[in-house]
Amino acid sequence: MKKIVVANWKMNPETPREARRLFAKVKRTADRLRRIAIVVCPPAVFLSLLRPGKNLVLGGQDIFNEPRGAFTGSISAAQIKYAGAGHIIIGHSERRRLGETDELVNKKVRLALKTGLKVILCLGETARDERSDYLRALRGMLERDLDRVSRAEAKDLIIVYEPVWAIGGSASSADTPEDFLEHALFLKKVLAAGFGQNLALSIPILYGGSVTPENAADFLGRGEAAGLLVGHESLRADRFNVILRLADGSA
Ligand code: PEP
Repeated sequence: MKKIVVANWKMNPETPREARRLFAKVKRTADRLRRIAIVVCPPAVFLSLLRPGKNLVLGGQDIFNEPRGAFTGSISAAQIKYAGAGHIIIGHSERRRLGETDELVNKKVRLALKTGLKVILCLGETARDERSDYLRALRGMLERDLDRVSRAEAKDLIIVYEPVWAIGGSASSADTPEDFLEHALFLKKVLAAGFGQNLALSIPILYGGSVTPENAADFLGRGEAAGLLVGHESLRADRFNVILRLADGSA
């Protein structure tokens, strides 16, 4: 299976000009790569300015949990799809920190899937404890986030395991590839209980949390990650392009 690399630009850059320039630099590299799928998730206002390519598609960073109505400032699943997104990040820790519950995440996941968007579901623990109690919380989170998602819909899921404590730092802040692999297997088991073994095996589990050109190959190799979600390093085209080439196997 092709490795998937997701770029989460968060609330960057500031201007449409900068967004176009950053995207163009990534696209020039993407055009030469054959063995990866890239999803760039810019702020929603830039989606319609960017032209996706064959292996480079667009995603949104969030949607509202209702399909339409009087919800000032919100963006619906259908609107983000019409703006050009084929994927949508849901449940990012930076949204959960603002009060987003698993119940809301679940509503968004089901709405997005029904709208025909592929869901990039982010989840991870805020801290680990010696008795590994956090694993129970992680399982509960995944079960609640995917409650009432059908097997047919589950084919459009991508899961990102990103320990919250690992987000936003340097390469040394990241999890280890071995720990990622262990947690990805754990999440696969939870998925298998809900969707069956075969379907669970086909759902990609990506790693996110301080991915850099220095540690990306280890997560994809030793960590056996199906791909990576890249935050701050996706804003530096030269460094992000190194990650893309590593994921493509052509670095
Ligand atoms: C993220 O945005 O989810 C993320 C992992 O960011 P960073 O790569 O900056 O840690």
